[in-house]
Amino acid sequence: MAVESSVESQAAEIASSAPSLIEVRDVKKDYELGETRVHALRGVSVAISQGEFVAIMGASGSGKSTFMNILGCLDRPTSGKYLLDGVDVSELSKKELARIRNQKIGFVFQGFNLLARTTALENTELPMLYSRVSKAEREKRAREALALVGLDEREDHFPSQLSGGQQQRVAIARALANRPSLLLADEPTGNLDSRTSVEVMEIFQNLNAQGLTIVLVTHEPDIAQFAKREIFFRDGQIKRDQKIARSQSASEVLKTLPVIEE
Ligand code: ADP
Ligand code: MG
Repeated sequence: MAVESSVESQAAEIASSAPSLIEVRDVKKDYELGETRVHALRGVSVAISQGEFVAIMGASGSGKSTFMNILGCLDRPTSGKYLLDGVDVSELSKKELARIRNQKIGFVFQGFNLLARTTALENTELPMLYSRVSKAEREKRAREALALVGLDEREDHFPSQLSGGQQQRVAIARALANRPSLLLADEPTGNLDSRTSVEVMEIFQNLNAQGLTIVLVTHEPDIAQFAKREIFFRDGQIKRDQKIARSQSASEVLKTLPVIEE
């Protein structure tokens, strides 16, 4: 009995010391497709605290991207509530959503989405064009972000002059430029070979160790093992949500993988 109550009080302590950055309550999302309705999310509830590193898994079509679009304020739920940093964002206008998105959220996608005729430095500066930051400050922050992903010596390179892994690192630097509190990544390693994928996960683990909250979609169980918590989607619902007991260290795994010349 004594043991049980101490576990309970520990859990309560952790819950109160780590406020929810994300709180999703019974969120549903329907898409209208001509005459039919697609139920992409069928009542999803989840809380994610500051400093968590969550992997979202599930078969194709299970609702992962729809969920990420809602977390990222790119789309609104059909019903239910979404609180981001204590603010109910489910009923904000498109303009207000865009502002919150720009201030609080960084995005990384499978396809890097860099501008082709634009250098690594300029790509990294892009999100800051929409915030009130001077040109000098933009460059300074972009350089810092590129240094964080180990690309400070490539700032004048164009995407075509960079490997896939380097392009994804520029995309991560761009996502960090506005100093977001949440990083969302949808299949960020989907176009990368296995060593490069682990290198990207090493960057994510370093950022998470510095306090950044990360939510990442992947269909690869090996990649999910670098996170601290896994949430499985099936048919628009959460089927399983568990702590990863033995989370892998990407730096350790990299020591065991051969280096491929770029
Ligand atoms: P996942 O990312 O897990 O593959 P999605 O969230 O993309 O799944 O899709 C969930 C369901 O919603 C699928 O049945 C998909 O076809 C449907 N869907 C997603 N986006 C749209 C859209 N814009 N219009 C209509 N249906 C959509
Ligand atoms: Mg998807």
